[in-house]
Amino acid sequence: MSKVTEILKTMDYGVAPEANDQVLAWLSSKQRQFKHFINGKFVASADGAQFEVLAPATGENLAFAAQGGKQEINAAVAAARSALRHWSALPGNARARYLYAIARLLQKRERFFSVLESMDNGKPIRESRDIDIPLAVRHFYHHAGWADLIETEFPDFAPVGVCGQIVPWNFPLLMLAWKIAPALAAGNTVVLKPAEYTPLTALAFAELCQEAGLPHGVVNIVTGDGETGALLVAHDGVDKIAFTGSTEVGRAIRNATAGSGKKLSLELGGKSPFIVFDDADLDSAVEGVVDAIWFNQGQVCCAGSRLLVHESVANCFHNKLKARASKLRVGDPLDKSTDIGAIVSEVQLQRIARLVEQGRAEGAQCWQPEGAMPSYGFYFPPTLFTGVAPSSTIAQEEIFGPVLVSTTFRTQDEALQLANHSRFGLSASIWSENINVALDAAARVKAGVVWINATNLLDAGAGFGGYRESGFGREGGREGMTEYLKPRANPRTKSRASSVTAATFSIAPTVGTATAGIPLLDHTAKLYIGGKQTRPDGGSSYTVFDTKGKAAGQVGLGNRKDIRNAVEAANAASGWSSYTAHNRAQVLFFLAENLEQRGDEFAARLRALLGASAAQAKAEVAQSIARIMFYAAHADKYDGAVHSTRSRNVTLAMPEPWGVMGIICPDESPLLSMISLIMPAIAMGNRVVAVPAAATALIATDFYQVLETSDVPGGVINLVTGDRDVLTKTIAEHDDIAAVWYCGDKDGSANVERASSGNLKSTWVDGGIARDWQSLAGQGREFLQRATQIKNIWVPYGE
Ligand code: NDP
Repeated sequence: MSKVTEILKTMDYGVAPEANDQVLAWLSSKQRQFKHFINGKFVASADGAQFEVLAPATGENLAFAAQGGKQEINAAVAAARSALRHWSALPGNARARYLYAIARLLQKRERFFSVLESMDNGKPIRESRDIDIPLAVRHFYHHAGWADLIETEFPDFAPVGVCGQIVPWNFPLLMLAWKIAPALAAGNTVVLKPAEYTPLTALAFAELCQEAGLPHGVVNIVTGDGETGALLVAHDGVDKIAFTGSTEVGRAIRNATAGSGKKLSLELGGKSPFIVFDDADLDSAVEGVVDAIWFNQGQVCCAGSRLLVHESVANCFHNKLKARASKLRVGDPLDKSTDIGAIVSEVQLQRIARLVEQGRAEGAQCWQPEGAMPSYGFYFPPTLFTGVAPSSTIAQEEIFGPVLVSTTFRTQDEALQLANHSRFGLSASIWSENINVALDAAARVKAGVVWINATNLLDAGAGFGGYRESGFGREGGREGMTEYLKPRANPRTKSRASSVTAATFSIAPTVGTATAGIPLLDHTAKLYIGGKQTRPDGGSSYTVFDTKGKAAGQVGLGNRKDIRNAVEAANAASGWSSYTAHNRAQVLFFLAENLEQRGDEFAARLRALLGASAAQAKAEVAQSIARIMFYAAHADKYDGAVHSTRSRNVTLAMPEPWGVMGIICPDESPLLSMISLIMPAIAMGNRVVAVPAAATALIATDFYQVLETSDVPGGVINLVTGDRDVLTKTIAEHDDIAAVWYCGDKDGSANVERASSGNLKSTWVDGGIARDWQSLAGQGREFLQRATQIKNIWVPYGE
């Protein structure tokens, strides 16, 4: 008789297929032909165009879906617009009831949606059943709560309006939930375009909207390809675009929306580090890798696709990993024993194969487990590359497949350098049993989401989103809600045209009149870079005139090179970001004190350059001092939160400074507006390269003398005077600047948004509409929020 151990060794898995009869019946009931969902009804494309939807598990036809064009997008946007008035005016509690109903309906059909998702996308049923669909349900419940709380938690905010939402194919229903739930909770209406490969769960969701009695036009779903998405992005009737997908398309959308005034959030690609220190629990870390890169076939924006492992444990770790990966079952997504399902499409499969070939060609060692792959459908084995050079293609490009690339490190500093050696910054997973090592790495890694001794933890209550080219904006929790809201009181006043022309940069004699035959000494203000007064690189200056047309003085005419120098100085002043908030507050208070000391001088300058009355000039100086104190006070009070996500877990939401910011100041209220923009930025720990208003630049050059006496470290504030358009262009294009605030004219705003798409920096432009700096609209939490990005750090605890 065989022994149990022998049986265990020889036993093969039995298949455990999930029943799909309900889904097949649903597909048949539609004759496998699907239409758009517009204004509460299912409608075909006007031209009857369709595209084929394939089952990745077999490569066979699953259905046909309508291809949306201009007419459908127009109709959907019009429906969303006309539904907006009623929907946004509903009490939050009424909206909460609809969202609650959707959550309940979805929950009651979890199995149906799981099977449909696995059939459409190819992901293992274990994942769609245990992760995708439950998380989507949780998202609707969570946001039913936000709808209920909107009036009390966001009293000063209003919905943005009609939202165009574009989602990818890797988590079709979950991404839909991430987009639709907060938008509706905030009182917006939506037009959503699902990915071409995976439109089916979105259309089944549309049926739930009907069942929940959602008012017509609140949710519209238009199926189609990238062109359909582009039409939605370009539509004038859309107030906000929320996009998840590739960085390349995100960049195109940034360009397409530049200057349109549309609010934009981008959740883009990643190449996230998975760092294993030598004191990590290696067996747990191996399980972590399985979840990080082999979950959803590695088609996850936050996949831990770059393994960084300490050299002393690397061999052992790789061996454990190979042993574990050899046991992963690749096959039918509907089989409950399947670990790795099908890749979404043949195109994606070919892309993965091409990048793997490139990795081999670049000299990295490729390992794949032995064993046959299914002979049909789109499958790729779990793959591990070792000996990967940090700058090689496979270490830098998002492969979006089950491919892990491994590099070793020797010290913690090296690990962090490698981790941050990427244009992306979506997430990071850190493995160490030493809390000091883990938290230090979490603080230093450039990523929007950090998991300590864990990976891919997601929850509706926590924000999710990236740094750098992984996009901007957050989804989930309070952070995510703000993406779908705008300040209620319009703080803007009148349109401003650029007052700066070429004539502004002319030269007129300013040398003082001779006294007794001896001329006064020439005084030309310089640029202020790295804490020093610096001559402009171009060696040119221009004259600032007073209101009587008399030359009031000359200032440096900065150029591209000066901006680059200023950025370098700001980079070098990174110590400012690690000052304690208390210390930053002290510096700001001291600055206010010193400005007050010289208040009369500044008031006189304002009178001369602006023609302000004595009272007006005095008031602007007083308000400027008060504003510095306001941000000094906030420096140690604008703090983060601990999100309620899972039990035995602390999820820290920490506001972090961007790093180096570019700030282009407006012409109006030149002292007050400059201070109102620079102070919140530096209070939060940023270093700033600022372009003061050109026509009144002497105010800024007077101001650097105050900086010099106020313990503001060199490089924290850099002032480059000159032609706003020329200097702004260099700032917007500069890769070491992470965020730009622009106050200028309408065209300038569009140019900033367009030029910033290179490194996808965050931008805040005013579209040429002046702000009332004297009022409360000139200060507040909005400025602090814009000066920071939230990093969510997940710290599970307990054995
Ligand atoms: P895309 O970024 O092209 O697609 C995401 C969504 O945007 C889809 O709905 C797509 O439509 C739509 N879209 C495509 N072009 C435009 C456009 N010009 N304007 C508006 N919407 C558009 O990703 P892909 O599906 O093509 O995948 C390509 C690569 O992108 C993958 O290999 C992967 O590396 C990466 N990716 C990253 C994701 C992430 O979350 N980080 C998600 C998906 C992909 P359609 O489906 O018809 O193309």
